[in-house]
Amino acid sequence: MFNPEKETLPREEIEKIQLSGLRKTLRYLKNSKSRLKVKYKDIEPEDIKTLDDLRNLPFITKDDLRDCYPFAHLAVDPSQCARMHMSSGTTGVPVINAMTRNDIVQWGEIMARCLAAAGLTEKDRLQIMPSFGLFNGGFGFHYGAERLGCFIVPAGAGRSLMQLKLIKDLEVTAFGAIASYPARLIEVARDNGFDFKKTKLRVGILGAETWSDEYRRRIEDEMGIKTFDIIGLTETGGVGLGIDCHARSGIHVWEDHYIVEIIDPERETPLSIGEEGEMVITTLTREGLPLIRYRTRDISRILSYERCECGRTHVRVDRIKGRTDDMLKVKGVNFYPSQVEQILLKYKGLSPYYQLVIETVRGKDEMTIIVEKVDNGITQRELEQLDLELYDFLGFRSKIQVVPEGTIQRVPGKAVRIIDKRKKI
Ligand code: ZN
Repeated sequence: MFNPEKETLPREEIEKIQLSGLRKTLRYLKNSKSRLKVKYKDIEPEDIKTLDDLRNLPFITKDDLRDCYPFAHLAVDPSQCARMHMSSGTTGVPVINAMTRNDIVQWGEIMARCLAAAGLTEKDRLQIMPSFGLFNGGFGFHYGAERLGCFIVPAGAGRSLMQLKLIKDLEVTAFGAIASYPARLIEVARDNGFDFKKTKLRVGILGAETWSDEYRRRIEDEMGIKTFDIIGLTETGGVGLGIDCHARSGIHVWEDHYIVEIIDPERETPLSIGEEGEMVITTLTREGLPLIRYRTRDISRILSYERCECGRTHVRVDRIKGRTDDMLKVKGVNFYPSQVEQILLKYKGLSPYYQLVIETVRGKDEMTIIVEKVDNGITQRELEQLDLELYDFLGFRSKIQVVPEGTIQRVPGKAVRIIDKRKKI
């Protein structure tokens, strides 16, 4: 562990830290220049007697933050900040998180914990494959690895052949990447006779997208590594909010820095342990953009507050299933692309490159699943089996189109899984 004292705090200690952190954050926000403080004008920090009182506080949504673009949501003036990152803005106005020097120290701390949870030590050589730019991934890994004392290979995004060359020549032991990127690396490796099993690579830390257990299994087999699922959002302070550990029994969220709640996204009411809903995050130690009850739109559930096999006591949440924004509704059925991926990748002849195309045909929804094949693809019999499995899961028939490798465009950054051609009402 990077910080054994903090990572193994007894539950009552964690709750004490959270209660005082929550009061402090509320006071800080109310006294700050943030436009969001109007939400809390009738609530005093002293009104919060127990952690349950958090439930009475209003939420902060992504739209609240967008309305404040570029800086009105910040608690401090940009001149007091050291740097900024920005959400991708693919779905509208971007959100800027500007960070004070203390925020960067906090980021380094939680990221170092994550890297250590993935089994990294100062002896490791970490190749950082997310971009170093407005997207927070590259710098997040950098600050954590620097704190842990790893040898950093700041490769950044893209240039897959160069990535492979560095892995081999520099005897890289671990990498951090956007979850869909290893699929591309494997493809380029295959085309160039590169064998991951002849390298020193042993750990892959993946995030920024939802990825299925089947995809995970495949990456681990093909690369001969162990993978770890890391989470985090620009708004909460970047990658490093939590990670799963060797026990593979959920993602630990660092509770001395964050409070996690799971709510029913429609009724906005808190859910109990095990119930699936939207993850809501309160920051306890952030200065540039403190958040109270921020609605992440990520779908997960609380798995346990008990001490994990790994010794850590911080809450475990389930791997993220999807975002409320990428939940699809086709023929009245709700599902996430990662659930379809999980079914597709059970077939060895299918690749992790797939797209769901939804359109209106004669007034009705139709979904076509375009998926690339690998090697010899799948047999007619397997295709029928797949068709049946998808029907079982979805409850409606979709068209499956198996296409040659390389058909789906390789894009830098996050993969494009959904092409929804339906008319929006
Ligand atoms: Zn654990």
